[in-house]
Amino acid sequence: MGLLQNYDPLNASMAQIDSAVAQLRSKASNEGLDVAPVDRLAAATGREEELTERFKTDNALLRNSLSYVGLLSTNPDFVERNPLLAPSVGALAAAILQLTLDSSPQSSQAVQNRLVELVEQTPAEGPDERTAQAFIAHARSAIPARTSASGPTSTADLVARRIGFRGVSACNAQRDSLPGAPAPRLGTPQARHTHGLLAGGCRALEHLFPGIELDLVEAGAVRMRLRRDMRFEVPGFDPLPQRDFGFDQFALSRPALERVCRRRVEREPNIEFRPRSRVTELIASPDSRGVAGVRFEDTRGAPGNLAADLVVDASGRASPTLRFLDAIGSAKPTATEIGIDQAYATAVFETPGDAPTDWLGVVHAPTPPGSSRLGIILPMEGRRWSVSLCVNHGEASPSDIDGFMAFAKSFRMPTIYNAIRSAKRVGDIARFGMPCSVLRAFDKLDCFPRGLVPIGDSVCRFPPVQGQGMSVAAQEAHVLASLFESRRERGDPLYGLAEAFFREIQPLLEAPWTVAINDLLYPQTRGERPPDFETRLQYGRALIRLAAEDPETDRILFEVRSLLRPQSALREPRLASRVKAMMATADLVSPTRYYRVRAVDQEKQH
Ligand SMILES: Cc1cc2nc3c(=O)[nH]c(=O)nc-3n(C[C@H](O)[C@H](O)[C@H](O)COP(=O)(O)OP(=O)(O)OC[C@H]3O[C@@H](n4cnc5c(N)ncnc54)[C@H](O)[C@@H]3O)c2cc1C
Repeated sequence: MGLLQNYDPLNASMAQIDSAVAQLRSKASNEGLDVAPVDRLAAATGREEELTERFKTDNALLRNSLSYVGLLSTNPDFVERNPLLAPSVGALAAAILQLTLDSSPQSSQAVQNRLVELVEQTPAEGPDERTAQAFIAHARSAIPARTSASGPTSTADLVARRIGFRGVSACNAQRDSLPGAPAPRLGTPQARHTHGLLAGGCRALEHLFPGIELDLVEAGAVRMRLRRDMRFEVPGFDPLPQRDFGFDQFALSRPALERVCRRRVEREPNIEFRPRSRVTELIASPDSRGVAGVRFEDTRGAPGNLAADLVVDASGRASPTLRFLDAIGSAKPTATEIGIDQAYATAVFETPGDAPTDWLGVVHAPTPPGSSRLGIILPMEGRRWSVSLCVNHGEASPSDIDGFMAFAKSFRMPTIYNAIRSAKRVGDIARFGMPCSVLRAFDKLDCFPRGLVPIGDSVCRFPPVQGQGMSVAAQEAHVLASLFESRRERGDPLYGLAEAFFREIQPLLEAPWTVAINDLLYPQTRGERPPDFETRLQYGRALIRLAAEDPETDRILFEVRSLLRPQSALREPRLASRVKAMMATADLVSPTRYYRVRAVDQEKQH
């Protein structure tokens, strides 16, 4: 039938086109030319890629369906062993083939109904349970692949995409239903708040979903050149000099970002989604040294089991992993908590026609230790601004527009207040509370169950205002995928996988966790101060001052903050000696004095 055996030639030519477009874009921006024509070219090639992806999906679907028909019809033992299962499986295979060949809406709908019915009828237990379950997963994947472009993603999607893509069946269980259009889900209440995607996170997404920048632009994301287009108001430097560091960041709402990623994942025929399925428990392997699958409840509360070689806990809280470690009597990781009791309030505004032209986004950093009040404006799709205000240590975040405006007015600088005071608000004010940042030392455990990997917030939850969590999660997904890929040929690729993963992600966690530790600067913050804490703070303050004066230091600092470079870049000897020289400056000695002096200096200037 002329079906393609592999997609290497297609992938290679798409990669060449992507790389040519990326080179054009980088040349255009380096030379200060308009990048809009490149974006249009990228949009056109993107549409071609979309068609190619569609072809790959169809091709894979057809090949997989045919291989199941072959496997089942040429295996008489299967029919004999599974008198109930075999007819249903045969009918299901035929239905999938029909769906592959006839994609008219009526036919699709009829076949989908038949598929749903058959999926529910097909017994999933028996001597050939694994084959049957794999086939059911395949059938389920055929349904969404044909029906809709839907909803959100989380780290689970990123992992499923990368691991599932390489010829392994992947199942992505989500507690929520998956909305068809970008919309926050109950399971991710934080999605109503401003979510910045850092350049390092975007780069990781690019590895997972080549060409995703184009999808982001098509979804309405605003491309921002760091730091030219972002205004950073930091005590003593209100604002930091706006400089062009040659790299971009994309701003869009979290639900829109989820949707972009989800659409990519939906193209993979061997990835099955199980919306509205709550994982209730991890199932231990017979020797209790590993994980053999998950138990879950579906939307009607009906329990089910799913066998799995590898379970990735991207639940955001690690509860399934921690309960499992308890259940098998294994040591749990120590958790370092930094109690910030952070309260968030977010409102969305239409970007006014007379919006300032010297910035696209603003970060107003607090004035510690006296005030932890912080504000952010980020643009998002649909010519809107997402505006978040937050405060630590139990102070309530504003719940109505008057309180919101009063909070914005209380900042050192009037930038945020002035921007929104006449802007039209869209929707309610969303609020969120986060008690603490948490780092779980999985890397310090002597052993870890085979076939289980916690990821994302399950390993480390950072202070939300720093905008790092999603980016770190995407970087971790990339690490896990690379490890998985490199171990594929081993006798037991899962042996030691989690331990290797925990080791490899430590450098990724260091920069954002260092920022989390800085919250201990406030006397009210709960947690253990490191012995060299005061020196660290002084180093940080001297670094900012040096960065304000010296563009090269500034670039390194923001590359680290954008997760493009590891924290160790800030300790390199040449830079460290300049920072230490700056530390000798008297007004850097005490944080209280430092910020007071800078604030007074600034008042004099205004
Ligand atoms: C107010 C706020 C603002 C933030 N702003 C930013 C920002 O600007 N930039 C940034 O990068 N990060 C930001 N973050 C952090 C970011 O939201 C998280 O770091 C990121 O979402 C972590 O991804 P995750 O996949 O680990 O967890 P989540 O995104 O929380 O996803 C967990 C998923 O697991 C599902 N789930 C949970 N339990 C079960 C179960 N038993 N069975 C099945 N499914 C289950 C949930 O429904 C959910 O879909 C912010 C966080 C907050 C609270």
